[in-house]
Amino acid sequence: MNLKDYAGISEQSDIRAIEAMAAKLAGRTILHVNSTAVGGGVAELLSRMVPLMNGLGLNARWEVIRGTKAFFEVTKGLHNALQGKGKQITKRMWDIYESVNGRNMDRMNLDADYVIIHDPQPALLVGKKKSGNWIWRCHIDISAPDRVVWHFLKGHIEKYDAAIFSVSSFAQSVSIPQYMMHPSIDPLSDKNVELSETEIAEVFNRFNIPMDKPILLQVSRFDPFKDPLGVIDAYRLVKKYHNCRLVLAGGAASDDPEGARVLKDVLEKAGNDPDIHVLLLPPFSDKEINALQRGAAIVLQKSVREGFGLVVAESLWKGKPVIGGNVGGIPLQVIEGVTGFLVNSNEGTAYRIRQLLVNPEMARKMGAAGREHVRMNFLITKDIKSYLALCLAMEKKGESVIYL
Ligand code: UDP
Repeated sequence: MNLKDYAGISEQSDIRAIEAMAAKLAGRTILHVNSTAVGGGVAELLSRMVPLMNGLGLNARWEVIRGTKAFFEVTKGLHNALQGKGKQITKRMWDIYESVNGRNMDRMNLDADYVIIHDPQPALLVGKKKSGNWIWRCHIDISAPDRVVWHFLKGHIEKYDAAIFSVSSFAQSVSIPQYMMHPSIDPLSDKNVELSETEIAEVFNRFNIPMDKPILLQVSRFDPFKDPLGVIDAYRLVKKYHNCRLVLAGGAASDDPEGARVLKDVLEKAGNDPDIHVLLLPPFSDKEINALQRGAAIVLQKSVREGFGLVVAESLWKGKPVIGGNVGGIPLQVIEGVTGFLVNSNEGTAYRIRQLLVNPEMARKMGAAGREHVRMNFLITKDIKSYLALCLAMEKKGESVIYL
């Protein structure tokens, strides 16, 4: 994987800017830390970005914190609370959060010129900061957080040198500089690379999904915020008028213990409808997800809370119109009536699905517009350019020019 491979796909000006900035940053050490090696958007992103950064002459590493089952139950609670739907976090839970972060601090080598800590799970590692520039990269929707939980976390976040949010409405009142950077997809990864019709058909065949009628697809972790039950309701409303199939595909992330409970509810609600296909995907199902997205007629991402929603960019990149919840980063990607539709209810979702099913030409045009929108704004090259610009800006503290 090499920056040159993106010529002809990414904007040439982005590639040139990356080369120029990477030359200035040659040899700098960059450490990314998150809480899972597979599953979820952050792991997906880092698995591509870290090798590319190394190819640019930087010295990049990626480390994953180790946690117990109890720790991930607590951090999922924190995640939910920060996304505004939390239960109370007890003193015992805070203790677990702090002690697991503490154990990781002792275990991990956190020395680097730039330490980029992703999301709340490893956020307390900043307690070990001695030197270097520490950046907290928040990927979740923190626009309306539980005040108590945010107040606690904020005390730690303010020890960082800067924070990055995915969407401007997630910005918080903190004493450190804040930046807005969109996450991105890699057009050359197994998840997004072109596939032949035969490869696509082979995957559908393997999952026993006939491609005989239009396919509605949602790919997501089984998480209440992704509203898979609402998707089934919307499909049932559509099904009264149009013959179609629904595919709900998702896997479990090792830092998300809620998945099994939600999957059970989804299976129960799907009942024995032969046109609903619920797929529990193992890790490393990139080619399968790629094929499912390419074989779908319409992609849904009916989230009720969302950080950015990488699956939206992945699907638009494949020329599919996306019907998405009007939350988090989805409206940045789904431009109403241009690259898809934004929805707030099951009924609204069903209405827009029907509109696209009877109008394949509209669906095709939206898909094409979506692909170009992603190419211009949400490819990995844009993301790397922003990170390098941030690193340079942090080295030139006090200068008023911010390159982002
Ligand atoms: N994904 C995956 N397997 C699954 C479900 C999702 O590889 O079973 C991928 C999906 O293609 C996307 C990422 O995980 O790249 C999910 O990112 P998103 O921002 O949509 O949601 P998150 O899970 O981070 O909330």
